Amino acid sequence: MPGFEIFGDEERKEVQDVLDTGVLFRYGFDQERKGHWKAKAFEAELSKLTEAQHCHLCSSGTAALSIALAACGVGAGDEVIVPPFTFVATIEAVLGAGAVPVFAEIDETLCLNPDAVNAVITPRTKAVLPVHMCGSMAGIDEIKALCEQKQLVLIEDACQALGGSLNGKALGTFGQMGCFSFDPVKTITCGEGGAVVTDDKELYTIAESYADHGHDHIGSDRGLESHPILGTNFRISELNAAVGLAQLRKMDYILKKQRAHKKALKDAMSQFPEISFRRIPDEKGDTATFLSFFLPDESKARKIAGELGSAGVDACFYWYDNNWHYIRQWDHLKKLKSAARLSIALLENCPDYENINLPQSDQIMSRTISMLIKLSWTEDELGQRIERIVEVISKG
Ligand SMILES: *Cc1c(COP(=O)(O)O)cnc(C)c1O
Repeated sequence: MPGFEIFGDEERKEVQDVLDTGVLFRYGFDQERKGHWKAKAFEAELSKLTEAQHCHLCSSGTAALSIALAACGVGAGDEVIVPPFTFVATIEAVLGAGAVPVFAEIDETLCLNPDAVNAVITPRTKAVLPVHMCGSMAGIDEIKALCEQKQLVLIEDACQALGGSLNGKALGTFGQMGCFSFDPVKTITCGEGGAVVTDDKELYTIAESYADHGHDHIGSDRGLESHPILGTNFRISELNAAVGLAQLRKMDYILKKQRAHKKALKDAMSQFPEISFRRIPDEKGDTATFLSFFLPDESKARKIAGELGSAGVDACFYWYDNNWHYIRQWDHLKKLKSAARLSIALLENCPDYENINLPQSDQIMSRTISMLIKLSWTEDELGQRIERIVEVISKG
């Protein structure tokens, strides 16, 4: 999967362009930068890749989520429907906005179940924030239809799904805004970085202003720009953007390689009737960063996960016991423990996170194992890996 696997001369060259001019800032210095606009170039290329009208590159995926929430008008006290299986950053961004994360069950897509979303809508619900987990997609067309019917904002957390699509439409472009991450364990990396995409010019204008202290970016003198809104600083540096630009140009190669590796593993595992696979609404749009599969029950899943590890099959994740990606181990959230008091603690609609009950999600996650798909496997390594997996499951 990750961008950290491919760092080469292309990345060095882009970074060197920036070092040669010494202009590390993405705005201004028109003369000194000698035509190098790495953040801008990245935005143009990501827009092209996703076929979104507008893109704003920022400092992280978490920042992208915060920008999207702010631009879409999600703020203090608003309820935002989220899945319990995600990287915790999704939840942190909602809390940071002063909004209320409301959990809905996932289904065998490992993403939000549209019916479960419908079931937790209240008059305070402002937005739905589905996460395209582990490189594949939610039933985002159904979620979109629901949001339109209920007049809710739809923001996609596509941080793990760059390059994915549903029926030919890029993940991240179904709702008002889509968010991407370019941290070092995502499909491509900027070192640190993120982006929002949208087809709505007005949302884009608010987003790029909010991410830079409310600057309106009109005119050619930054010091004279006006600031229609308060914002914050979620800017990316040209150095990080330069790395990302080189990485973005490798997307075709990355997807092709991942898909081939994943297919070989999946074909080999399909011979076992006790194994079933994550439901993927559109196989062609899978980015193939992970192969996720189900065992018949929790004890079997835990046993196989352990044995795969002992057999040297690395990078297998049993998320149910993992403290980053599933709510079960999020004790900090359950106790609303942060560095300082969170604004949600003041709200009358603050849920009792300690007593949240998500039986369907537990049922699914307790049986799920995900294998990271690497680009760097040689054919021999892939072959050995398959042999070991087949051995473990045959004995299982
Ligand atoms: C990585 C990730 C984020 C946050 O991205 P950062 O760039 O690390 O801040 C948010 N959501 C999901 C689903 C992620 O995987």
